Amino acid sequence: MRPVYLDNNATTRVDPEVVAAMLPFFTEQFGNASSMHAFGAEVGGALLRARRQLQALLGAEFDHEIVYTSCGTESDNTAILSALETQGGRNEVITSTVEHPAILQLCAWLEKSRAVKVHKIGVDARGRLDIDAYRKALGPRTAIASIMWANNETGTIFPVEQLAEMAHEAGALFHTDAVQAVGKIPMDLKSSEIDLLSLSGHKLHAPKGVGALYVRRGVRLRPMLRGGHQERGRRAGTENAPSIIALGRAAELAMAHMEEENTRIPALRDRLEKGLLQRIGNSMVTGDPENRLPNTTNIAFEYIEGEGILLLLNRAGIACSSGSACTSGSLEPSHVLRAMNIPYTAAHGAIRFSFSRDNTDEDVDRVLEVMPGVVEQLRSLSPFWKSGGQAASQFAPTYA
Ligand code: PLP
Repeated sequence: MRPVYLDNNATTRVDPEVVAAMLPFFTEQFGNASSMHAFGAEVGGALLRARRQLQALLGAEFDHEIVYTSCGTESDNTAILSALETQGGRNEVITSTVEHPAILQLCAWLEKSRAVKVHKIGVDARGRLDIDAYRKALGPRTAIASIMWANNETGTIFPVEQLAEMAHEAGALFHTDAVQAVGKIPMDLKSSEIDLLSLSGHKLHAPKGVGALYVRRGVRLRPMLRGGHQERGRRAGTENAPSIIALGRAAELAMAHMEEENTRIPALRDRLEKGLLQRIGNSMVTGDPENRLPNTTNIAFEYIEGEGILLLLNRAGIACSSGSACTSGSLEPSHVLRAMNIPYTAAHGAIRFSFSRDNTDEDVDRVLEVMPGVVEQLRSLSPFWKSGGQAASQFAPTYA
């Protein structure tokens, strides 16, 4: 039986058309774009075309607003570290409690080692940002506000255009980690006030190890890597030409597929969600059903462990995730669900199903067939379930 892959927020399959686009740049067109001969010029031209493909997907005004990096994490780190240097006299950062570790771990380090004040803005039970708290945190000391475009675990979308305008009123820069949003929802950066935006190739059917940072024209950037003059001096190091070209082609394909996929994929997702809630009692959707990524659902099955669910689904050839890939492996519920105050007994059994254009109706049918038995099996072993949830609430810790 064909395996069912529903973990596309962790990573996506590289599209065969993307592979085809990048292959010649390993063998025939292997030049260094900085070289003055034909080998170099050929690659230089291809890099420019790739930059324009990505520019079109983002709706950016200028191709040179794109700086290639090695991943989403590098883009996130560069944006915040740069703002702390270019925004003279300002040493506060605003972010949210539900960001990816690429932001949160950096902020924790900045607080500890660089005496930077970090304001972490909370979210409500649907994962929506507390806008009043965000407004209050902004001030003359804010260097940068960094709020993700869409959450990787629940898919909840943040009002980044509005948040960027608010940051500018306080004279701060605005960055968004759009790693989960790029390629899934339309963007028009030229009509927004967003200054900096991070993205990562492997979330949109390009390879791992390539990303980009959008830097709006006029925004100063302090490079994290210093060396050669690549990327207009903003990111030194010989360009990873095959992967950059792959990202360009992936951006073009994302644009070509977006309209159709924004009807087909949410229909698959909604059928799965509805079917699971109908078939399995004591289950609930987390996140904001009215404003989330078209490909993501996060469902909590009460009184059982997400890890147990993953294991049994994996045996049945179904791949999904409990919390983000980086946090699974620990038995603590994810920081995102904790920040949303999802009850302990539910947060532990939360499963993320994330779709891509590779998924089909058969994938949904298969999960609907397998999942009720998996939950029943685990609940039959769960003392919490057997005692009707009372035991669970006795042991449930409260989150500060
Ligand atoms: N930001 C978000 C929201 C993510 O989901 C991820 C990856 O899961 C990253 C950043 C990190 O991206 P990369 O793996 O390219 O470093």
